[in-house]
Amino acid sequence: MDSRDAFETLAIHAGQDPDPVTGAVVPPIYQVSTYKQDGVGGLRGKELGAAARWIEGYEYSRTDNPTRGALEECLVALEGGARSLAFASGMAASDCLLRAVCAPGDHVLIPDDAYGGTFRLFDKVLTGWGVSYRPVPMSDPAAVRAALAERPARLVWVETPTNPLLGIADIAVLAKLCRGAGALLVVDNTFASPYLQQPLALGADAVVHSTTKYIGGHSDVVGGAVVVADPGLGERLYFTRNAVGSVPGPFDSWLTLRGAKTLAVRMDRHCHNAQRVADMLTGHPRVSQVFYPGLAAHPGHEVAAKQMRGFGGMVSFRVRGGAGEAVEICGRTRLFALGESLGGVESLIELPARMTHASVTGSALEVPADLVRLSVGIESADDLIEDLRAALQP
Ligand SMILES: *Cc1c(COP(=O)(O)O)cnc(C)c1O
Repeated sequence: MDSRDAFETLAIHAGQDPDPVTGAVVPPIYQVSTYKQDGVGGLRGKELGAAARWIEGYEYSRTDNPTRGALEECLVALEGGARSLAFASGMAASDCLLRAVCAPGDHVLIPDDAYGGTFRLFDKVLTGWGVSYRPVPMSDPAAVRAALAERPARLVWVETPTNPLLGIADIAVLAKLCRGAGALLVVDNTFASPYLQQPLALGADAVVHSTTKYIGGHSDVVGGAVVVADPGLGERLYFTRNAVGSVPGPFDSWLTLRGAKTLAVRMDRHCHNAQRVADMLTGHPRVSQVFYPGLAAHPGHEVAAKQMRGFGGMVSFRVRGGAGEAVEICGRTRLFALGESLGGVESLIELPARMTHASVTGSALEVPADLVRLSVGIESADDLIEDLRAALQP
């Protein structure tokens, strides 16, 4: 793929050359586990247009699969990295990256409002393997600098925007701090998607995605990915993934790639609709606070405007009437479906304290009980606003 091509073009063409045998314009689903060799070690597949450029040929689908390779070739182009690896889920991607990079005795800084599953991975799994962590407010570079000075870290884990409070961290500033301290900077780019934000260009070492969310985009597949700037780190990840086996199947890879094609147009609409929703909520008498980086009053607005192409599709708000009323609002919407996850074309509503973030209750990462989180979909903004107005004022 020509690196001068724009994002929208890469999303549709990178890793997706027409099939050299049949001319099929969409990479086929190679639903296969093993591959015939032309003599021992004579692997076929280099000539497949859809194959990722680093794959030497096909041997066994845990190691490499052409459909998965097409997805990886597309994702590496979209994030502007050296190498990409697809996984069975976002958590599998995070786990593989951490196992490839960290060893017992290593210390990691994590966001003090990290995604609940990421917090659980550090708190309940990795500590058992001798990797310690410390929650730090990533929107405050001075706090990160102080934590790095106090105890060297192998890795700094950042989310921006964060879930569910939409906090913003300055990736370029943190990248400089990490480089000075000898720590790797990992950015969970799930909320922004590569269309809105490209952490590697800002100095991050690795990007992690739950492709379940915006990249897949249709709430029909679970998946994850890591994209790295350094080919050496990519090779280590490739080895670790093959060793632990956390790969996505061919059909899941195909669905994710199909979603990625329309990422740019979907994100434009998500951003537009979310801004409209956030503006409506801001003036609403039953709402006490709105969290959306596109609002000028948001503390991370300027940094977000600098490092993002748009402000994303996630909006959170606190309900003036308290947790009880927040629960009722979540049950009263017609179009916003009450459910976990995010990033699909359809709008979702949820109560983080009792749903997505129940696992952080009682920890430093606890979220307000009256907080409602919206994943604003790409339906008509007028319909969505009407739905929320009705739910707020029965
Ligand atoms: C959903 C999510 C994950 C985990 O991804 P899965 O695909 O559910 O395993 C990680 N980070 C963020 C920010 C998420 O929203």
